[in-house]
Amino acid sequence: MSTTASGVTVKLNTGAEIPLLGFGTVSEHDTETFKLALKAAILDAGYKHIDTAWYYNTEELIGDVLEELSLSNKIKKDEIFITTKVWPCFWNDPETSLNLSLKNLKLEKVDLLLQHWPVCFAKIDDSNGNRIPVPKDSNNNILYDKDGDYLITYKKLLKLKDSGKAKAVGVSNYTVQMLERIIKETGVIPACNQVELHPHLPQLELYNYCSEKGIILEAYSPFGSSGAPNLKIPLIIELAKKYNVSSADIIVNYCIAKKIVVLPRSSNIERIKKGYALINMEKSDVDALDNYGSKNPKRYIKDSWGDNIGFDHWN
Ligand code: NDP
Repeated sequence: MSTTASGVTVKLNTGAEIPLLGFGTVSEHDTETFKLALKAAILDAGYKHIDTAWYYNTEELIGDVLEELSLSNKIKKDEIFITTKVWPCFWNDPETSLNLSLKNLKLEKVDLLLQHWPVCFAKIDDSNGNRIPVPKDSNNNILYDKDGDYLITYKKLLKLKDSGKAKAVGVSNYTVQMLERIIKETGVIPACNQVELHPHLPQLELYNYCSEKGIILEAYSPFGSSGAPNLKIPLIIELAKKYNVSSADIIVNYCIAKKIVVLPRSSNIERIKKGYALINMEKSDVDALDNYGSKNPKRYIKDSWGDNIGFDHWN
């Protein structure tokens, strides 16, 4: 068994292995800082999984880093599991989105393609022909496509899998009801569902449903996003002392113990190089964290389109 979290994998319903630890690639920093962080994640911490999206604007940088490391024989590109996502402004033409992602990533296919959100924005291009990610009217209201339906996007993603450009297809920000609908309508169970999940938002109903259906859950914003507020939860600090590891290690291991893919982000080279220790967390401690979150639910990512899909713990 691996001693660091980067070596642990779980099987998708396609039969492919996905590393349970993936590097989050939203970036708040300059391009050089981002590239150095990604190189440290791959070369020093041994990350074998990168989570990206057209929306993050970091795919070209990821492509540059993968190209550089593979040309200098430091990695083989196909050793790294790559996930990208289709943003709601591409709800009706996900192939355009995937082609842009593949071009930027300098890849011919991705390991996992996700529908980023089950919402559909209007398709509006700017004067340079680039798709506007979040189109708005003059009153700053988001423009949705009144003919949009997330089920159509899912069906189109399944076709992209058939074309070989995506080895597996999944969704993100789906509720149980939405999963039930796409499975009923297509008969195809998505490989995974990526949602906000951490000890403040354990998503137990979704977890039980996905476990039963063999859908891998992926935890985004595990530390509570910018500023990492979850690292200050007293129960987490207590468990960190008990296991002699960091608070970040506790959150990563909480997910790993539940076979949930976890996607932390960092730009801090020293932290990245350390990686995350793999511990054998007792079931009673995992249960205590579940219990903590159930009693104190808190959502940190509050993009306004989440309102439209009935997300709970919104305020
Ligand atoms: P995280 O929950 O990973 O938190 C990132 C923050 O934690 C940064 O400010 C980072 O600062 C800080 N941090 C990391 N490690 C430590 C540490 N050991 N001690 C103190 N602070 C620390 O944030 P994200 O919201 O970015 O979520 C992670 C990933 O999930 C994203 O990058 C993206 O890939 C995915 N995601 C997907 C979404 C979806 O809709 N599907 C939505 C949101 C995210 P520093 O850089 O200084 O280390």
